[in-house]
Formats: sequence, structure tokens, C-alpha cells
Amino acid sequence: MKQNVFNHKKIVIASHNKGKVIEIKDLLKPLKINVLSAIDFDLKEPIENGLSFEENALIKSSYVSKKTGIPSLSDDSGICFSDLDNEPGIYSARWAGENKDFKSAMHKINELIKKIKNPSYSCFFVCALSLCWPDGNNVTVSGQIKGKFSWPPKGKNGFGYDPIFIPLKYNQTFAEMNPKFKHSISHRALAFKKLISLCFPSLEN
Ligand code: IMP
Repeated sequence: MKQNVFNHKKIVIASHNKGKVIEIKDLLKPLKINVLSAIDFDLKEPIENGLSFEENALIKSSYVSKKTGIPSLSDDSGICFSDLDNEPGIYSARWAGENKDFKSAMHKINELIKKIKNPSYSCFFVCALSLCWPDGNNVTVSGQIKGKFSWPPKGKNGFGYDPIFIPLKYNQTFAEMNPKFKHSISHRALAFKKLISLCFPSLEN
């Protein structure tokens, strides 16, 4: 029988990205379980060769759950710009290079959008979450938030591309928003809502 409901005492976040681990730990706080991350184990990062956010999320969660024997939760996320045929998309982290230089990745995006005739500036963040048990059983969901590209980068909170993204109906970038507020409306929050209803029903209000 497919096992959906999570009833373990431990979970491992399949990420080495400190910003992401902090956000996910925050979202999992109400579960009152031991939340570890791939940083706590000496794990390599698996090759993310999926063709979608969901495929890459599952590659990470299944790798970590098999290696640790503990259920694992992964996040694969990124930003897509309509004017750039939805790039960088699943390559969002890679556009920042090995040094994780998001300042230069944001400049690259600005330079490319400047070359587009009549840009729409439309963009969206996507977050796929995958919860995988050591036997390979998994639940994988995703959430999206639409917004507009904003230049120059503004704000000091958050991480990655937050300083150039203004969600629709707001007038501040994600990096200008109070982090708690960002966490309540973000692509990650929307994906979490879906995951909670499937795997953590006790957390639903
Ligand atoms: P990956 O999922 O680790 O492959 O990388 C996703 C990349 O997308 C991150 O390194 C960030 O650059 C970007 N990203 C994903 N979610 C957010 C967010 O909430 N704010 C800013 N950047 C994000």
C-alpha cells in the first residue's frame, strides 16, 4: 500500500544550500521532529540531470533517503523569465556558477532582458518538493508564484534571486519583504501546503 502519511521522528533535508535549509527548517518547525540536513552527513550532491523541477527534486530526495535510511525531503526550485524562454529555470543555481555568484547571475539576466524588444518582465518562481522514504516510495508536488522582474536589485533579506523578483499584487521584492511574510506567500509555501495535505495532515488547519 502506498505510504503517504509521515510518521517518523527524523527527516533529512536533501540540500547543502544553507539559505534553503534555514527556510525549510522554519516551515517544518511545527512538526516538532528532528530536522537534519545533508550538511550533517558526509554526502555528495547527486547529479541533477532531470528535465523538470520535479524530476530533480526526486533525484535528490531518493539519493539522500537511500544513503541515510531516513526519509528525506528535497526542494528543487528556480526562477523562470518569460522573456528568456523560461530560462534559467532548472539551471537557476548553475547560472550563479561554482562561486554561487548571484549578483553576476542577476546582472546577466538584466543584460539579456535589455536586449528583448517589448519585454513583458513576467517571471515566476517554482518550487518542487519531494518526500522520499528509503524504500523509494515518494510524494512529489510543486508550487508557483508569478511576479515581475525588477531592476536594480533591492533588499537584503532572503537569498538567490530574491532582490529582482516582485510578486504580483505587491510592490516590494522578496528580498525587501519580512522573511516570515515571504515564507507565507512563496512558491515554497504553496508547495508545502500541498505536501502538508498529503503527508502531514495533522498540520492542516
Ligand atoms: P537548486 O534547487 O538547489 O538547484 O537551486 C535553486 C536555485 O534557485 C537557488 O540556488 C536560488 O538561486 C534559486 N531560488 C530558488 N528559490 C528561491 C527563492 O525563494 N528565492 C531566491 N532564489 C531562489
